[in-house]
Amino acid sequence: MTAKLIDGRAFARRIEAELASEVQRLRDLLPPITLVSIAAGDNAAAALHQRGQERAALRVGLRFLCRSLAAGAREEELLALVRAQNADPGVHGVIVQRPLPEGVDARRVLDAVLPEKDVEGMHPANLGRTLRGEAEIPPCTARAAVDLLLATGCEPRGLEVVMIGHSEIAGKPIALLLLDLLATVTVCHIGTRDLKRHTRGAGAVLVAAGKPGLVTGDMLQPGAAVIDIGINQVADASAPGGTRIVGDVDFESARRVAGWITPVPGGVGPVTVAMLLANTVAAARSRLEVES
Ligand code: NAD
Repeated sequence: MTAKLIDGRAFARRIEAELASEVQRLRDLLPPITLVSIAAGDNAAAALHQRGQERAALRVGLRFLCRSLAAGAREEELLALVRAQNADPGVHGVIVQRPLPEGVDARRVLDAVLPEKDVEGMHPANLGRTLRGEAEIPPCTARAAVDLLLATGCEPRGLEVVMIGHSEIAGKPIALLLLDLLATVTVCHIGTRDLKRHTRGAGAVLVAAGKPGLVTGDMLQPGAAVIDIGINQVADASAPGGTRIVGDVDFESARRVAGWITPVPGGVGPVTVAMLLANTVAAARSRLEVES
């Protein structure tokens, strides 16, 4: 079997097209919908990530503003910057780029973003609403992974799903979203004794572990859907710059067994960015509803 590729870029472009129409529709009712990116320091991966978000935001007609602090920025400065965005009625969404400088409590900074402007969906209030199944601003990565799984046409009700990874940003919220769709979810992690025993019984395997090659073809049930959330930079002498990006799945062996598979890059990543924009538009729309 050769797995069908789930094209995250094409999926993201379809979301962007819908968002662009929505932004156009809201144009007469709202000031420009604005997403502010807060960054500190000069981390190359974070800068690349931010550029991707900016390009996507401009494609759908959002205003994207970068607020950058120096590498030595202190927590209080970051908190002040976040509070300024919270207080600014012209700002609809805020994203705090990671990593933050050493000595800064990233959780404190992230939690300082007002829940209604937390377009990553990672504020405790938004995570709590996700737990209740009523999130207006769901966590972007989780929503992207689940929507790509649904795009395969898999019926989630009763589906045996293995989620590898139990982080706040990926594994835990993905498990919650899938539970709401009545999937039977097993969450595996670093403490799991025999990963393969779990994955081999699964109709869908999602992985967010940050471990290149963790999931191999022999660990999969034939025909399973594989959603690879991992983003890892690995050395590759033949690639420009000597590195390339891979996921957590050994793509070559997995694609021979799986029914569907997301590539890395070009899978969950672009859809996560599209979800960030969708959350920003949703945040602007709910502000309009509150104010009118
Ligand atoms: P994390 O370090 O917070 O969590 C890693 C998880 O993997 C933990 O639950 C850990 O127990 C589990 N794990 C680690 N090694 C394992 C092993 N050998 N067997 C089973 N489980 C194992 O990581 P994170 O922030 O969730 O990120 C995970 C990966 O997903 C990274 O590559 C990251 O870059 C990527 N990521 C991608 C997106 C996206 O938008 N596509 C967003 C967030 C994270």
